[in-house]
Amino acid sequence: MKVTSVLGLLPAAVLAQDLLSVAFFAKEKTQLLQFVSDNGHIDYGCQATIHPTKNGEHQLHALLTEEEVSHYKRSLDAGIVRVETLDHLNKRQTATAPIGKGDRFKGGKVAPRGLGSQKPNVYSTYQKAGILNADEVYTALKGLEKEYGLELFMAPYKTFEGNSIYGGVANKAEKINKDKQYIYFTSGIHARERGGPDNLIYFISDLLYANRHRKGLTYGNKTYTNSDVKKVLGAGIVFIPMTNPDGVRHDQANSNLWRKNRNPLSSIPGRPASVGVDLNRNFDFMWNFTKYFDPSVFPASTDPSSQAFYGTGPFSEPETRNMKWVYEIFPKIRWFIDVHSAAGTLLYSWGDDINQSYDPKQNLFNPAYDGKRGVVEDTVYREYIVEKDWYNIELNANLTTDAMMAVGGSTYVPQQAVGLYPTSGASDDWASSRWYGNKTLNKVHGYTLEFGYPTNFYPTADEYIQNILDTNAGFMEFVLTAIEIGLKG
Ligand SMILES: [Zn+2]
Repeated sequence: MKVTSVLGLLPAAVLAQDLLSVAFFAKEKTQLLQFVSDNGHIDYGCQATIHPTKNGEHQLHALLTEEEVSHYKRSLDAGIVRVETLDHLNKRQTATAPIGKGDRFKGGKVAPRGLGSQKPNVYSTYQKAGILNADEVYTALKGLEKEYGLELFMAPYKTFEGNSIYGGVANKAEKINKDKQYIYFTSGIHARERGGPDNLIYFISDLLYANRHRKGLTYGNKTYTNSDVKKVLGAGIVFIPMTNPDGVRHDQANSNLWRKNRNPLSSIPGRPASVGVDLNRNFDFMWNFTKYFDPSVFPASTDPSSQAFYGTGPFSEPETRNMKWVYEIFPKIRWFIDVHSAAGTLLYSWGDDINQSYDPKQNLFNPAYDGKRGVVEDTVYREYIVEKDWYNIELNANLTTDAMMAVGGSTYVPQQAVGLYPTSGASDDWASSRWYGNKTLNKVHGYTLEFGYPTNFYPTADEYIQNILDTNAGFMEFVLTAIEIGLKG
């Protein structure tokens, strides 16, 4: 596996942009929904979320430049009562965990060790070493290949900057049977969501170590036995720890909260923010949202400067094509999680509108409902889901978030992905929609895990450790529950 240097691939000058965490307040939730509709260019974090406050108002988080903050403070949009900068979050952004320097895995001669197979007194060495840099995500995989014979693969499409995307297949069996891999994990699609790749690398490291040494795993107050470890490995785990290496390299070099990839095809000269596509709006799930959705909602953006820019066509980007390719190589994948931050929630399909099981005709492929989808408040359209599947995916979300909370660190809420606002072109919905569009394909239950703390994309050193513990317990529980519910059929 050839690893390219971080620095050689970056453009000479990149304009870093400081973004501030802010909150918009309104009396009614609908007023904030209207605001989101009218201000589609704003960065709402991984996805727009609206929370009720203790004093009966509603609050919407966003990331703004100083200039934008003063603009919105000067002239309040309709229904917005005030705009506040969230200084506790902005201060915390300056005390974030460092990015690792050099290569702690020595080109793959040293294998990573997970946290769950060790005592908490070693965690501080992980904090000092810092978040895995983009090169280390690759050398960590090589280390696992050398130490445990983990089978690696290179996805076929190179990124704009010429990087390859690597994944692994973790299994109990010596030889990989492509038809017996039922679990798929990805991370790093949104570059700034730091620690996502680390969560997967250390989880797989724990499984392989604990399997070889006949041990269990401990994450905070949550423990798993060696037999759990063997069961989880037996489910066959395909994973890509960093699906957007160009974006991650760019974010790590500039610390500018970069979210998209680095494809400059649609960019506008002199506007650095117009580089890149939001890969999690680029999947073929109602990608052309202006056709499918009600004109009042903006599940993605056609503006290249937007954080939610959808690209030039469904699967226009090599990164999303690579994620899709995995389903062709491992056709029996049943359970999928795309790992994001930062919210503290586990999302299950659908993300375009509220779920319903009473009317199969209200489905994403039915043109009679074009232009009517995505209004969460109405009953004009709701997305069809097979009732038993709905029950099962919700059950797994509930048990997984219970396990994550049992770790004893942070709070996790299971919820339907649409939440308060729809999305198009997302990896989890596309995965879930494949079978609905073509019944000869395997059914996939797609999820988005948002680890961490609201709008805090760069975790502190303590949060970095907590995120690994929380997600790793969550991954264990997710696979164990998937086995209980069923991996095939
Ligand atoms: Zn994200």
